[in-house]
Amino acid sequence: MRPLSEKIAGVVESATIAISNRAKKMQAEGIDVISLSIGEPDFDTPRHITDACIDALNRGETHYAPSNGIPDLLSAISGKITTENHFHCTPQQVIVTCGAKDAIYEAMEAVLNPGDETILLTPAWVSYEPCVQIAGAKVVKHPVNPVTFQLDDSLLERVNSRTKMIVVNSPSNPSGSVFDNKSMKIVADLCEDYDVYAMSDEIYEKLIYGKEHVSLASLGDMAQRTITINGFSKSYAMTGWRLGYAVAPKQIITEMSKVQQHTISQATTFAMWGGVAALKGDQHCVEEMRKEFDRRRKYVISELNQMGYETAPADGAFYAFVKVAGDDMEVVNRWLERGHVAATPGSAFYAPGWIRLSYAASLERLKEAMGRIKSVG
Ligand code: PMP
Repeated sequence: MRPLSEKIAGVVESATIAISNRAKKMQAEGIDVISLSIGEPDFDTPRHITDACIDALNRGETHYAPSNGIPDLLSAISGKITTENHFHCTPQQVIVTCGAKDAIYEAMEAVLNPGDETILLTPAWVSYEPCVQIAGAKVVKHPVNPVTFQLDDSLLERVNSRTKMIVVNSPSNPSGSVFDNKSMKIVADLCEDYDVYAMSDEIYEKLIYGKEHVSLASLGDMAQRTITINGFSKSYAMTGWRLGYAVAPKQIITEMSKVQQHTISQATTFAMWGGVAALKGDQHCVEEMRKEFDRRRKYVISELNQMGYETAPADGAFYAFVKVAGDDMEVVNRWLERGHVAATPGSAFYAPGWIRLSYAASLERLKEAMGRIKSVG
């Protein structure tokens, strides 16, 4: 048999999915594993959103829809972006995708050429690099400050004539940190001075504790060179719906649209009606979930700190990022095998020596998990 694609052979499997599969296998064997390894809210989708989807199914919204998304959703998104994210957006600048992940993939395909470089700020979420690789381009990594998790001018050292894009993810998966205005300005200045595109993944924008979310595209002329990624998975507990979107200059949306038309065609029609209800409906549900995450965050961070662990500034998302002594993979294995607590090694996010714990689990389970971590060390 002839060898398969070299490009895909160079892509690694998702470490977060691998560890959660191991935890599931142990659970299937009857072991009570507490899974803090996956980035998924433990809440169900709010009822008014599921009802809107069921209504859509009942009235026959079961057919193909316009590839970029149903008009109601495109206009709900452009309205939300203009009022909440503070940069002008028309429905023509929006594409609805199968989850934010798909928007990231399409944007990389639309912007990058072989030989182009994309700057990733590490620690970084696991899927950016594979999407850059699939587009045939190369990743250049730049670590954020390991104490403040902010940027400084050393970022400029990564720029050269091949630099085409920089990826920003605030609030961050895995660190839970939020970029301050100074870090955002460093990115914006770099993009404008060196003619670089930005991808700003803002999927955790609603899960922020005591800080303000700043959209990169709202700074200066950044809307002209930024692809803003967002979705419904985290804010509205809609992970299984596979509904996300990108907002970008019209020329980029046109190119992303070609990728979409020839691959997934569109996001699921009735799921998009759920998306309309999410954006146009009462936003109380978002605040309720945020408050609950905040309670858990305070508990988990204070327990970890009392145990002597240093943690990254936990200002957003639902992750505690914990510094451990020695090899993070060894600690993850110990917590899983001896403590039956599943966590994700920082190495998966280019941050060896750290571990990501998701606090998107009930306070009761988190208490149990902290007790187990304490006992296995
Ligand atoms: N970006 C980040 C930073 C994420 O953590 C995730 C989900 N883990 C995604 C994008 C993808 O989300 P979706 O479910 O919308 O594809």
